[in-house]
Amino acid sequence: NLSYKLDRAFKTLKGTGKITEINVATTVKEIRRALIDADVNYKVAKEVTDTIKTEALGRDVLISVSPGQLLVKITQEELTKLMGGTKEDISLKGDPNVILISGLQGSGKTTFSGKLATHLKKQGRQVLLVACDIYRPAAIEQLKTLGEQIGVEVYAEPENKNALDIASKAIEYAKKNGKKNVIVDTAGRLAVDEQMMNEISDLKKHLDPAETLFVVDSMTGQDAVNTAKTFDERLNFDGVVLTKLDGDTRGGAAISIRHVVDKPIKFISTGEKMENLDVFYPDRMAQRILGMGDVVSLVEKAQESFDEDEAKRINAKIRKNQFNFDDFLSQIEQIKKMGNLKDLMGMIPGMGKMIKGMDIDDDSFKPIEAIIRSMTPLERENPDVIDGSRRKRIADGSGRSIQEVNNLMKQFRDMRKMMKQMNKMGGAQRALGNLM
Ligand code: GDP
Ligand code: MG
Repeated sequence: NLSYKLDRAFKTLKGTGKITEINVATTVKEIRRALIDADVNYKVAKEVTDTIKTEALGRDVLISVSPGQLLVKITQEELTKLMGGTKEDISLKGDPNVILISGLQGSGKTTFSGKLATHLKKQGRQVLLVACDIYRPAAIEQLKTLGEQIGVEVYAEPENKNALDIASKAIEYAKKNGKKNVIVDTAGRLAVDEQMMNEISDLKKHLDPAETLFVVDSMTGQDAVNTAKTFDERLNFDGVVLTKLDGDTRGGAAISIRHVVDKPIKFISTGEKMENLDVFYPDRMAQRILGMGDVVSLVEKAQESFDEDEAKRINAKIRKNQFNFDDFLSQIEQIKKMGNLKDLMGMIPGMGKMIKGMDIDDDSFKPIEAIIRSMTPLERENPDVIDGSRRKRIADGSGRSIQEVNNLMKQFRDMRKMMKQMNKMGGAQRALGNLM
């Protein structure tokens, strides 16, 4: 699935410290494929990923995020922008305020009409539902049942076969009865046909609705885009309602539709129940499309994990020449949480030399950690007390050789020396400030 594919795309970048042409190109190709699989139109997917590429290459990789995580962010930002950036409300200015509901049969118009009525009622507004699906008696019954369920009046004329006539009378009725909002549910065919199009565009022309909404089933993928285009050419609608986003749905249609008709998506519908209606938020949708709620929270966690207080604490210790093995261990813990080990390690004063030519991954720290963990609290805090016999005990306890313990001791001393020098130059804070 998409989530897996993107995960793989981002993994390509994990562990690489810099965003380069090559690793971006690889990742961007994977992102594009994943978007296309999520029903984002090919041309749109290509445009998005081209933008992501340019954006990514222009940005510095913050120390606190890996290139992969940065690309996640950029991708999400771009998708959000593509869907309009911010949420857009429906217009409720008319008097009465007519909302015309259009779309194919089965797209969820009647269900949405009920949901919108519920939504407006909750805001304390007076609503009238109008049954203009004149072709199927069952459709009128369906709306009436919904109306009873949610406590909203439904205007219907089962014998009348003229949708425009019904709607016009309903609006008169609304005016007389103080119903400020009139939701007109219309008929839809299984595929776009001329009669349906004429009927709905007539309704639009004569009712002059404040808001014409196009309802589309998100599960229909590319067809959704084509239908949206056809309806928009005839109706010039004001907004889109994306339905059936509850199942195994591909939110990618949201991007394509927005891109092709350039009309905002205003609501999404995520179930058959009346309360399953949500205002459309582009950023949330971007997250959903990428299927990376988890990835995003991981990124956030990583950023938090490089704890600011801890950084300040260690900075102070370096300044006072009190950096000890406990601090060293805590640094290793932090770094392990972050990824990008080599680059990060290289930024700890004195560490660069130590890791030169080494293959750094989580396992590389194991011997060091084992040795430090075998030290007593006193030894960690005051490395100077570690004499020959203590080294032997530490080596035995950690299962490492005395040679390795000696090496670590020497490296640690070098690190401290380096830190001291940097202190004199006033650079330690800068160097570590960068790191943290
Ligand atoms: P209409 O022909 O456009 O009026 O479509 P309906 O409102 O009658 O909906 C067609 C079918 O889709 C019905 O069975 C609805 O219960 C169902 N439906 C509508 N919206 C949603 C949704 O958001 N999620 C799911 N799962 N089903 C929906
Ligand atoms: Mg219907």
